[in-house]
Amino acid sequence: SLSGKTAIITGSNSGIGLGVASELARAGANVILNSFTDSEEDHALAEELGREHGVTARYIQADMSKGDQCRALIEKAGACDILVNNAGIQHVAGIDAFPTEKWDAIIAINMSSSFHTTAAALPMMRKAGWGRVVNIASAHGLTASPYKSAYVAAKHGVVGLTKVTALETAEEPITANAICPGYVLTPLVEAQIPDTMKEYGMDRETVLREVMLTRQPSREMATVDQIGGTTVFLCSDAATQITGTTISVDGGWTAL
Ligand code: NAD
Repeated sequence: SLSGKTAIITGSNSGIGLGVASELARAGANVILNSFTDSEEDHALAEELGREHGVTARYIQADMSKGDQCRALIEKAGACDILVNNAGIQHVAGIDAFPTEKWDAIIAINMSSSFHTTAAALPMMRKAGWGRVVNIASAHGLTASPYKSAYVAAKHGVVGLTKVTALETAEEPITANAICPGYVLTPLVEAQIPDTMKEYGMDRETVLREVMLTRQPSREMATVDQIGGTTVFLCSDAATQITGTTISVDGGWTAL
C-alpha cells in the first residue's frame, strides 16, 4: 500500500493524469492534482477523489509551461514521494510550417517541466529516504511520426531525462522510469471518434481498427486505468530494481 505517501501528478484534471491520480489514491496515496485552470471543478475533482478513497487530495494550480511555477507546485505540496510528470499538449504540422510558439510551448510543457519538477522533488525524496519518479512519455518517445516534430523531440527528451535521473539516484532508494503509452482512450480521443466516423462513413469499430489504430497491433486502445495501474506497479516494492527504463503500454506499436 502507498498509504502515507504523497503523489504529485502534473496535468491531472482530465485524461491520463486523472486516471493515474485515481489509481494512486486507490492504492492509498495522498494525491495532489494540478492544472493551470484553477476552476471550481478542479477543486471538486480533488475533493471527490479524497472522499472516494479515504485519502487526502488537494488541487494546486500551476502552469507547467513556466519553470518557476513547476518548482512552486512541488514546494507548495510540501512533500513529494511520488512525482508523475504527465502534463502534455500536441500540435501537428510539418517542420517548415511549425509555429515557433507551438514548438516552444510543447518543449516547455512536455519536456522542461519534468526537469523543473524533478529538480524540486529530489531533495524532498532524499530527505524522506524514498522516492519514485514516473514520467508519462509516449510511444513517440521511442519512435517517430511525421508532422509531430516538437512532440517527438520532447518525448525522446523525457526518456533521456528519465535515464539521467535514474543514474543520479542509482544508489539511493529512488527510482525513475518512463511509461510509453500508444493510443489511450481519453475524453479527448473519444471526442474525435464521432467526427472521424462521419468523415469516413464508417462505424465506430471500423474507425478504430482501420483509421485510428493502424499502428497499434492490438487494435485496442489502452485505458487511463491501465496507465494508472502501471504507475502503481512502478511505485511498488516489486519495482525497486526497475530504474532508468521505459515500459511501453502500446498494444505492440513499438514491436513493429
Ligand atoms: P489531456 O489533454 O486529457 O490531459 C492533459 C493534461 O495536461 C490536462 O490535465 C491539462 O489540464 C494539463 N495541461 C496542459 N497544459 C498544461 C499546463 N500548461 N500546465 C499545467 N497543466 C497543463 O491529455 P492526455 O491524453 O491525458 O495526456 C496526458 C499525457 O499523456 C501527455 O503528456 C500526453 O503526451 C501523454 N500521452 C497521451 C496519449 C493518448 O493517447 N492520450 C498517448 C501517449 C502519451
